[in-house]
Amino acid sequence: MSEQDCLFCKIINGNAAADVVYQDNRCVVIRDINPQAPTHVLVIPREHIESLDDASQKDETLLGHLLRISARVANEHGLSDSGGYRAVINTGRGAGQSVFHLHVHVLGGREMTWPPG
Ligand code: 5GP
Ligand code: ZN
Repeated sequence: MSEQDCLFCKIINGNAAADVVYQDNRCVVIRDINPQAPTHVLVIPREHIESLDDASQKDETLLGHLLRISARVANEHGLSDSGGYRAVINTGRGAGQSVFHLHVHVLGGREMTWPPG
């Protein structure tokens, strides 16, 4: 998918609406439109990378940043104190990826089961 057609690029560029809970020069965090837990946010790099599978060595610092911000946002939503949270990167259609712009799901506020379906 090209960047022009990408939903998350549109949100990042201000061409589509979203509930933004955090942003910095490398990423934007929005509330998921179809939450799967009481707290469900998406940590999205500003750079268009289709999936984790397309990240390369030059993206290592960015990937670390996305995880650190995932933890920070989870903490700001009280998820560490309420039992923990899950950070998930669906990679590929068969694994549940539906938007092909890399993002980390941060879910919490309820009991989680394992294995994920
Ligand atoms: P994926 O399925 O690719 O792992 O995750 C994509 C996520 O984006 C889904 O959880 C879906 O609910 C969310 N999503 C899809 N369209 C929109 C939208 O227009 N706005 C927001 N905030 N989230 C969306
Ligand atoms: Zn994109």
